[in-house]
Amino acid sequence: MRLGVTLGSMRRIVWRWFKRLALAAGGSIALGLAIFVVSGWTAFGQRASGERRARMERSAQWQGGAFENPQPLWNDVWGSMTGMLSASEHTSPSAPVPTEPVDPARFQTPPPSGLRVTWLGHSTTLIEIDGRRVLTDPVFSARASPLTWIGPERWYAPPLPLEKMPPVDAVVISHDHYDHLDQPTIAAIKDWKTAFVVPLGVAAHLEYWGVPAERIVELDWWERTKVGDLEIVCVPARHASGRTVIDMNATLWAGYALLGTKHHAYFSGDTGLFPGMAEIGEKLGPFDVTMIEVGQYHRAWPDWHIGPEQALIAHRMVRGKVFFPIHWGLFELAAHGWTEPMERALAAAEKSGAVIVSARPGRSVETAGTPAFDRWWPDEPWTPGERDPIVSTKMGGTAVGTP
Ligand SMILES: [Zn+2]
Repeated sequence: MRLGVTLGSMRRIVWRWFKRLALAAGGSIALGLAIFVVSGWTAFGQRASGERRARMERSAQWQGGAFENPQPLWNDVWGSMTGMLSASEHTSPSAPVPTEPVDPARFQTPPPSGLRVTWLGHSTTLIEIDGRRVLTDPVFSARASPLTWIGPERWYAPPLPLEKMPPVDAVVISHDHYDHLDQPTIAAIKDWKTAFVVPLGVAAHLEYWGVPAERIVELDWWERTKVGDLEIVCVPARHASGRTVIDMNATLWAGYALLGTKHHAYFSGDTGLFPGMAEIGEKLGPFDVTMIEVGQYHRAWPDWHIGPEQALIAHRMVRGKVFFPIHWGLFELAAHGWTEPMERALAAAEKSGAVIVSARPGRSVETAGTPAFDRWWPDEPWTPGERDPIVSTKMGGTAVGTP
């Protein structure tokens, strides 16, 4: 009996402490979540409504309340979890990255060839094409994140700060992931007298952040717009979108073909390999330069990001002449060594005989002829493609050869 009383009171004490701890833990999580939601609120963006929403629902890509790829993305969930455990020890640079600060005066002289590319890291690129300037996926913040104090941090300051940017004719945005659509950047450039070209659904974010509606051109795949004599075609990509856990694929993702009076350029956006790339080449190629993503891949999610070897296959499928690898060298977003995307792209280009361009962030290159090769990154350990290939699914044998 006495033992029963002791056990009973002990149980009550333990239960009381358990409740207190649970309340404290729950309270901390709720508080953390509240801080996250409040501080990220503006950057999360906004859903489309009215006619914009109605247009999205009419799109062939719209299925069951969200956008979908013709070849849906396959994920190896277990592989994604265990993949992080075997991450490279060189996922980010251990020494300052050699960049080239841009002297804006260089843009006063048009490129003699008519086509010049200035890569600013990751997917941010200034393209001068036949007298027009296009800025792709401008990300100038310290982090690719909705929050200023947490999230992937950039490895170097923008080689060309926004305030020194020459006037651009169009800003094109591939999709709404944070490393491509940066709210503070958009807020900083919202008054630029430029066209903002975006895929379906992304206009709502831009309007919410202050870009005048009349400056935004929202396109579905294969739709096009004209900026002066430059034609911009929104082309399919195989990827996803979303800025929170509740807006997965609520907006469309895309690549772009820039059709100047003399030159054609292709910008892949984020993409896995997909059969429709051949159609892009047939309809809009050949391209004088292709800017295709090579980094932030993993074999457990091979349809989200194409990987270096398949980027060379894509280059051939869209009928590219000169290959300019992008989507690497600024943020740590995957488990591979930070120089690996470019090392593997180089090896694959050599194998296939493709012309590959390399220029440190901030250096401008004309892609005509054989541009000087700039091996600006340090030698670091990396895993060759044969040992860890990225193989997109559902290609149905349509890829044009191997890299
Ligand atoms: Zn993305």
